[in-house]
Amino acid sequence: MASGGEGAGARAGAGGDLYGLLKAFEGRAAVVAGVGKDPVNEPMIRHWCEAMGDTGPAYSGPGAIAPATMLQVWTMGGLSGHAGRSAAYDELLALLDGAGYTSVVATDCEQEYARDLRPGDRITFDAVIESVSERKTTKLGTGYFVTTRMDVRAEGEPAGTHRFRILKYAPTARGRRNGGKRPRPVVNRDNAGFWEGVAGHRLLIQRCGGCGALRFPWLPGCGDCGSPRWDTVEASGAGTVFSYVVMHHPAFPAFDPPYAVGLIELAEGVRIVGNVVGVPYDKVRIGMRVQVEFLRVDGEWELPVFRVAEDGGGGEGGGG
Ligand SMILES: [Zn+2]
Repeated sequence: MASGGEGAGARAGAGGDLYGLLKAFEGRAAVVAGVGKDPVNEPMIRHWCEAMGDTGPAYSGPGAIAPATMLQVWTMGGLSGHAGRSAAYDELLALLDGAGYTSVVATDCEQEYARDLRPGDRITFDAVIESVSERKTTKLGTGYFVTTRMDVRAEGEPAGTHRFRILKYAPTARGRRNGGKRPRPVVNRDNAGFWEGVAGHRLLIQRCGGCGALRFPWLPGCGDCGSPRWDTVEASGAGTVFSYVVMHHPAFPAFDPPYAVGLIELAEGVRIVGNVVGVPYDKVRIGMRVQVEFLRVDGEWELPVFRVAEDGGGGEGGGG
């Protein structure tokens, strides 16, 4: 790594040269003269408000404005991407990859709003690599925070700023060591009872103490009536495949693709995600009858999975 490393600005110690190279990206363009693919428009506002459950009166009818938090929406490139993207951001990420900081996680974003956006406003934007942090150690691993700032304009006027931060990091030794094992479930005080049930080979569903609604996954309060009171009912374990996906890619170290992941509708009416076993991945069909069983994982803990019933049932007939 050449360049004037002898100067007072050179950083001593491991990573010092890399940090200098990374800092040189600050201020470089990430997107130049980007153009929103659609002007601000009522259908996208309506879809957003429906998805968010936002019934604010400002977002519909004559004189409607877009929710301010939609700022980034108007800049998104969709599946085909954007033409105005510069090479600098990709170069920065490649530099970090090459130095072993191969993992990435989005950490946070901040927005500032300068102007209401209204249907018909045409959006343009530029983005710049605003800052690269010093090397930091987090629970995920050691790496660098990269902050990108996007300046959004509507009809040429400043509309707002969107800052987006990622951590590019080298996974911790603990993470790598776990590479061949299944990820363990996150057990917390809200779902501990579920996993205690699984350990005793019981599939437990929460039942609201206010309105009696059953719910899964486990949550601290009822989505129907808001009550924090609940008890449990034990599921029979019988269900049907409500939907499924077959995982081909990406390959996680603990899994052997392709494999089927089912969304199982239990006889009690709630749905749960789990592996479908007992038939090849390409024989899983919607409507198949399944029964829970408990799979011992890595000799250490257990997981509910769903075995297709003898007669299969439903779908196109379970497997020839
Ligand atoms: Zn309730």
